Amino acid sequence: MTIIFSHALVRKMWAHVKQGLPEECCGFLLGETNEMQYVKKAIRAKNVAKTSRETKFVIDPREFMKVEKMAKSAKLDIIGIYHSHPNGRAEPSKFDLEVAWPSYSYIILSVLHSKPFKLLSWVLNEDRRGFNPEEVVVL
Ligand SMILES: [Zn+2]
Repeated sequence: MTIIFSHALVRKMWAHVKQGLPEECCGFLLGETNEMQYVKKAIRAKNVAKTSRETKFVIDPREFMKVEKMAKSAKLDIIGIYHSHPNGRAEPSKFDLEVAWPSYSYIILSVLHSKPFKLLSWVLNEDRRGFNPEEVVVL
């Protein structure tokens, strides 16, 4: 499926990515899905990985529940999770694969030399052994 962002939302995510350096940052994407996915809101989450926050991220399940409620009351769904790869490729890591959930879009923002480099979106395969790329449109 195609995932659609506004320029403002993309800027908001990059600002979060920069603030989080050198660690990975992460957050939720709320929006609506019909024949495409429209992202309406980006909500920051805390990276609670106990170690190696430069190369992985973990979101507290309680934060997940909180944002799920928030989404429901705004009549939106959590449609994806974004996170950064400081000095890494915009492709899912082995760890990302291990912890990924089906049906969510995984947006990865890669940073090179502290500068925004690439933004790609990925969806877990049905066999959960890998990701498929997803078209990203910024309007
Ligand atoms: Zn990752």
